[in-house]
Amino acid sequence: MDNCIFCKIANGEIPAATLYEDEEFRVILDLGPASKGHALILPKTHAANIFELSDEMAAKAMILAKKMATVLTEALKCDGFNIVQNNGECAGQTVFHFHIHLIPRYQNDNVGITWVPGNLTDEDKEEILSKVRAILK
Ligand code: 5GP
Ligand code: ZN
Repeated sequence: MDNCIFCKIANGEIPAATLYEDEEFRVILDLGPASKGHALILPKTHAANIFELSDEMAAKAMILAKKMATVLTEALKCDGFNIVQNNGECAGQTVFHFHIHLIPRYQNDNVGITWVPGNLTDEDKEEILSKVRAILK
């Protein structure tokens, strides 16, 4: 993808603070961190979102997320960890090249990864179960 900033960063055309790199991924520090140590896992090949990502790359990305979360926790002595992945504008995605957010959490850090819990109604429950199960059949 010619105009994709994360393709350029992942492939080393634009410099970024790189924590880890292999043949398929680069892990960089986020320029607008939610917390100290906020990092991004970028595949070197372009996929706009998780739906475009191959199963093989999705599996490797999650294994790398576990490894980097473990390393960041040891290095920064954080108290908890969020692993976040946004797909689509309404879900908060702003860069349309698949990436995983690694967000170290600290006691009382006030990082706002939260929502107001709703209520699962019987109507919604039945509708969702039947629609999803019909596709999975
Ligand atoms: P999204 O909102 O798409 O899930 O996340 C995009 C993330 O990329 C944001 O956290 C933003 O701070 C980060 N970001 C955007 N442009 C750059 C950049 O040029 N370099 C780095 N290191 N991070 C970026
Ligand atoms: Zn890209």
